[in-house]
Amino acid sequence: MSLRMHESVRPVLDRLDVPTDLLVAGAWRGGHDGGRIDVRDPATGEVLASVADAGVPDAQDAVDAAAAAAAGWAATAPRARAELLLRVHTLMHERSEELALLISLENGKSLADARSEVAYAAEFFRWYGEEVVRLRGQVGLSPGGGNRLVVTHRPVGISVLITPWNFPAAMATRKIAPALAAGCTAILKPATETPLTALAVAALLQEAGLPDGVLNVLTTRRPGPVIEAVLTDPRTRMLSFTGSTEIGRRLLRTAADQVLKCGMELGGNAPFVVLADADVDAAVEGAMVAKMRNGGQACTAANRFFVQAPVHDTFVEGLVARMAAVRVGPGSDERTQCGPLINDDAVRKVDELVQDALARGARAVLGGARPEDGPGSYYPPTVLVDVPADARLLHEEIFGPVAPVVRFEREEEMLTMVNDTEYGLVSYLYTGELGRGLRLAESIDSGMVGLNRGLVSDPAAPFGGTKQSGLGREGSTEGLLEFMETQYVATSW
Ligand code: NAP
Repeated sequence: MSLRMHESVRPVLDRLDVPTDLLVAGAWRGGHDGGRIDVRDPATGEVLASVADAGVPDAQDAVDAAAAAAAGWAATAPRARAELLLRVHTLMHERSEELALLISLENGKSLADARSEVAYAAEFFRWYGEEVVRLRGQVGLSPGGGNRLVVTHRPVGISVLITPWNFPAAMATRKIAPALAAGCTAILKPATETPLTALAVAALLQEAGLPDGVLNVLTTRRPGPVIEAVLTDPRTRMLSFTGSTEIGRRLLRTAADQVLKCGMELGGNAPFVVLADADVDAAVEGAMVAKMRNGGQACTAANRFFVQAPVHDTFVEGLVARMAAVRVGPGSDERTQCGPLINDDAVRKVDELVQDALARGARAVLGGARPEDGPGSYYPPTVLVDVPADARLLHEEIFGPVAPVVRFEREEEMLTMVNDTEYGLVSYLYTGELGRGLRLAESIDSGMVGLNRGLVSDPAAPFGGTKQSGLGREGSTEGLLEFMETQYVATSW
C-alpha cells in the first residue's frame, strides 16, 4: 500500500480496496528499487497517494508473467473470457460512485464527467464480452476451384497498453477489454498523473477471477527506459498507445525494431462547423459537449469553431451565454461543471495559446486570462472571436476550456481551413440538411464525424483518426481484430 495517503481519498480507496503497487503475475508488489510516485489532486495540488515506481527489472518481470500466462489464456474458451469481462462490467457499475470520485480526485474532472466516463469505460467490457463469442472466420473456394481458403483469427500475443491521463478509466478499458477478449495477455502502463483508477480497474479484474499474469500493471516515472525494455523484448507482439502524437512517433520508431503490430490513438485538432442552415440552439448545445467535456481536455475536443456568416453572431452569443454560466471548481464538488486542468503546466500552455491569438488580433468575448494565483490549476471558460488563420491555437491542441471562433462565407473556404491540419481524428458538422452533411463529411479528412452531434464515442463504433491522429481503430469489431492476427490455411480436401 501507499506510504502516504490523503484523507479525502482514503475512504474511496478503502471501499474499492485499491492497491497502489505494481501488479505482476497476479501479485501486488513494490518496484525493485523501492521508489514511490506521488499522485496529486489538481484541485488543490495536495498529494492524494503514492504508487510504486517500476524500473527496467520490473518491466522484465511483467513480460515474463505475460509470457507465462499467454498459452493458457489464449486457450481459454471465448465464452469463459466473455463471462469474466461481463462480471467486470457488473462490478464497475456496482462501484461506479467510488470509481467516479477516484477519477475526479486524481484527474480533476467534474463528477458528472467522471460518472459518464465510468459508464463508457464499463461498456467496453460488456461490448467485447458479447462480441468475442460471435467472432467468425471464413471458408471459401479459391477462384481457380483447386482448393479451399480457410481464414481464422488468433491472438496477436503479448500486448503493451499505454494510456493518457485525460480518461484514466476509459482509455484503459478500451484496450484491456479487446486485448483480453482476443486472448492476449497484456502489460498496462497508465499515465503517471492518474494511475489510481487503472489500478482500481485491475483490482476489479482480479476480483472477477482473472488468472495471474494475464494483465500486469506498471506505474513508473521512467516511461522511456521501462517501455523500451518491454517493446524490445522479442516476446512482445503488439503496442497499443493512446497519447500525444509526439510520444506516439517516438514509440513507433522503437516498435519498428521488432515490427510490432501498432494501434495508435494520437492527438486531434477537431473542427466544429456550423452551417447557415443549422439549428443554432442545437449547435450551441453540441458545442458545449464537444468543447467542455473534461474541461476541453479530450482528444475529441472541438479545437476550432468555423461558423458561417449569417449565423455567426447568434451562435457566438449563445455559446458565450452557456460558457459564462459554467460553474468552475473542484471536480469532486457535486456542483462543479468544469474542474481544474491536470496541472499548472497545462494552465501555462493554454494561456500561452490564448495570449498568442490575442496578440495576433483575436478578441476575447469571454475569459481570456489566467486567474490570479490561488490553489488549483484552473483556467476560465474562454471564447475568442476574429481569430486569424495564423493563430497557434488553430493548429495546436488547446486542451482547455477555450473556444476560438472563425467566421466563414463559402463552403470551399471552410473545407480548406478544416483540412489544413496534420491531424484527422474527429470533425463536427451542424446543418439542417442531412444530405449536405453527408456530402461534406466525405470531403473532410478525419476518421470520425459528428453530424449534428457533439459526441461520437461509442464502444460499438470504430474510434480512430487519419493522418497524424493515429493508426487503427478502437471499439467495435475492428478494435477486437487489432489484437488478432489473421491466419489463412490453403486447404485441399
Ligand atoms: P503523452 O504525454 O503522450 O502520454 C501518454 C502516455 O505515454 C502516458 O502514459 C505517458 O507516461 C507515456 N509516455 C510518455 N513518454 C513516454 C516514453 N518516452 N515512452 C513510453 N511512454 C511514454 O499524452 P498525455 O499528455 O498523457 O495525453 C494527452 C494526449 O493524448 C493528447 O495529445 C490527446 O489528444 C491524446 N489522446 C488521444 C486519444 C485518442 O483516442 N486519439 C484519447 C485520449 C488522449 P507518463 O504519464 O509517465 O508521462
